[in-house]
Formats: sequence, structure tokens, C-alpha cells
Amino acid sequence: MVGAACALYAARAGLDVILVDRGPVAGGTTGAGEGNILVSDKEPGPELDLALLSGRLWGELAQEFGAAVEYEAKGGVVVASSPGGLAALERFADGQRAAGVVAEPVAGDALYDLEPHLAPGLPGAVHYPQDCQVMPALAAAHLARASGARLFTGRTVTDVLRTQDGAVRGVRTDKGDIHTPALVNAAGTWGGELAALAGVRLPVLPRRGFVLVTEPLPRLVRHKVYAADYVADVASDSAALQTSPVVEGTAAGPILIGSSRERVGFDRTFSLPVVRALAASATRLFPFLSDVHAMRAYLGFRPYMPDHLPAIGPDPRVPGLYHACGHEGAGIGLATGTGHLIAQALTAKTPDLDLTPLRPDRFAEEAA
Ligand SMILES: Cc1cc2nc3c(=O)[nH]c(=O)nc-3n(C[C@H](O)[C@H](O)[C@H](O)COP(=O)(O)OP(=O)(O)OC[C@H]3O[C@@H](n4cnc5c(N)ncnc54)[C@H](O)[C@@H]3O)c2cc1C
Repeated sequence: MVGAACALYAARAGLDVILVDRGPVAGGTTGAGEGNILVSDKEPGPELDLALLSGRLWGELAQEFGAAVEYEAKGGVVVASSPGGLAALERFADGQRAAGVVAEPVAGDALYDLEPHLAPGLPGAVHYPQDCQVMPALAAAHLARASGARLFTGRTVTDVLRTQDGAVRGVRTDKGDIHTPALVNAAGTWGGELAALAGVRLPVLPRRGFVLVTEPLPRLVRHKVYAADYVADVASDSAALQTSPVVEGTAAGPILIGSSRERVGFDRTFSLPVVRALAASATRLFPFLSDVHAMRAYLGFRPYMPDHLPAIGPDPRVPGLYHACGHEGAGIGLATGTGHLIAQALTAKTPDLDLTPLRPDRFAEEAA
């Protein structure tokens, strides 16, 4: 998704672009997650600024690709489970509002007008109309095609070619060399490996997540609905399992129940306890789910960075190398802003956002 968005915005800025992927389009984490484009789960700061920019850009792209990428401006509802939790959620929303987010408090009764099938007796929620959704694999494919970039799938980058003074002059692949003065590392969870080929350190780690998919149903869940605990889970540095429920209906009918978070390397083993915990927590939010069949579960590896921020922009250690990776659980939502900022950097324009907090070399000192 991120590579496709970089290709689109770079091509629209007038550059000649080649997209290289060792697999198919959306064969990485993009094909293994959900497509929420969220501001609701982000605290004020650089990630929220990027999310607001990205949301605006997704809105523009929706004019072009809307139905094809299943863009849906459905809004998010973050539900508190206790009066204390509601007070904390409202304080969090106050801070977000000051940063430009639309966050509407919803009192207990009004909550059931928004989501009639929620568990009874919940104290309240916050409604985020700017939250929306796309289907990630379709979005990546359509943006890649619309970019007009030459697309080399099934081709692995095995080395980064550099001039004598260390600048990028191309990449070596298993099917021949490609010469270029500018290389964008959009290798997601494998971004650290690609950076290492260029001789620099970038600490991207996998954070596993399962999604549970139900049988197709009528539209019983109207928004993206999640428990307020989710925000704390996203921000957590713990390697241990977290499973706050995130429940959403889809145009196709199945309800998606996400999403666990745990750092267990690239372990693809199915985990019944994780999926069971997801189902149990979703059922507490929407009791009707206890009578619904789960059809399947799938998993993916989010590109996790130790400070939960992606690396976006030029790498001062290697002229010609740019990074656009490490978006963890938000790479679909944040792809458009990332692509736009990378295109600005590639064409020596002043970026719309300050890239300092996202600097790719910000972890360099730790390595020394
Ligand atoms: C369960 C789960 C739920 C999620 N839900 C959401 C959500 O609701 N909203 C959201 O915004 N995000 C979500 N995410 C996160 C999101 O999926 C990722 O942040 C995003 O897909 C990252 O996109 P990417 O393009 O950076 O990485 P990828 O999609 O992994 O793309 C990187 C590509 O690089 C290629 N590559 C790697 N190394 C090489 C090499 N040496 N040579 C050639 N090609 C190479 C790979 O083949 C891959 O296709 C979720 C993730 C998971 C796991």
C-alpha cells in the first residue's frame, strides 16, 4: 500500500517510477490486515498530523477510485465500558479536538441510535465522523495502476548499488540491475532488511495480528466500533498479547473482528487462544455475535517501530535513499500522506509536515 501510494504521488509530481516487489501486489502486510483509516486512535502529535493529512488525501482519491477501492466514510465509535473509562475517553477526545479532529461525545441513550446492537447499559462513547475505510488490496492495486509506474512483481531486491562516495545509483535484483538516483524503501515489515542492504540501521520489527471473519450478515454494525482500551493497546510497548475488540461491518457482509497485537517474530502458527480472546471481547461489545459463525481467521505482521512512528523521508546517511516504512497498524490509513510527503522530498519541495520526528536516522545513536 505504501509503495503504491509513493508511486502514485511521485508519478503525479512528474517523476519516472519503477515499483519492485518480490511478491504480488498486496502480498505483504497490506493483504493481511484491515483497511481502517483512523484519526480516532491517535493522540495529538506527529502521527495524528499525518493521519489528518492522509485522511484528506484519501477523501480526494475517493473521488477517483471510491467504489473500486470500497472507500466508505462510515465514521468510528469508541465505546467506554465504565463511567471512569468514559471520563478518560472524553479527556483524550478534548486533546484531539484541539489538534483538529472532529470528536463528538455520545451520551448513553444516543449511543443506541448510532449502534442499536451494542450491549445494553454502556455509559457512552465518542463518535469520530472522519474515520473511514478502504479495502487494502484493491486500494494498493488501483493506486499502483493509476500511477502508471512500471511494475516489476516477483523480483527481489538483493543489494543497493552505490557510487564511490556512497550515494544510491540503483538496486541489484535477482533479475538484473535497475539504475536510479533515488530509492524509496517501502518494504514494510522488511524495511530494516532493505535498509541493511544500503548499510544503515532501521529497527523495524514484526507485531503479529489476527483478524476473525464472520459469516456474511445484514448490516448490523454500522460504524467501526471499538472499546476505549484499544487506544492503550496500540500505544503499548509490551511484547505480550493484547486483544481489545475492534468490530466492523463490511459492504460484502462479513463482520471483521480485530485485532490482536503481540511480538512473537514471524511466527505464522494459528493460535486458538488469541482468536478465542478476540471473539469473547467482541461478543461482550455486541452480544448477538455469540450466535454468529466465524468463517475464518487470518494473520499479518505489522511493521513495528520502537517509538510507534514510521520512518518517512531522506536518509542523511546515504544520499538518494528515502524511507517510507514502519507504519505499524496504520499503514493503509497513513499511506496517502506518506506518498505525498515522499513525492515532496523527492522533488525538493518543502514538505507539508515537519519530518523531524519521522527521521529515519533517529535510532542511529542507539546502535553505537
Ligand atoms: C491484523 C492487522 C490489522 C491491520 N489493520 C489495519 C487497519 O485497519 N488500518 C491500517 O491503516 N493498517 C492496518 N494494519 C497495518 C497495515 O496493514 C500495514 O501498516 C500496511 O499494510 C503496511 O504497508 P506497507 O506497504 O508498508 O507494507 P507491505 O504491504 O508489507 O509491503 C511491503 C512489500 O515489500 C516487499 N518486499 C520486502 N522486501 C523486499 C525485497 N527485498 N525486494 C522486493 N520486495 C520486497 C514485500 O513483498 C511487500 O509486498 C493492520 C495490520 C494487521 C496485521
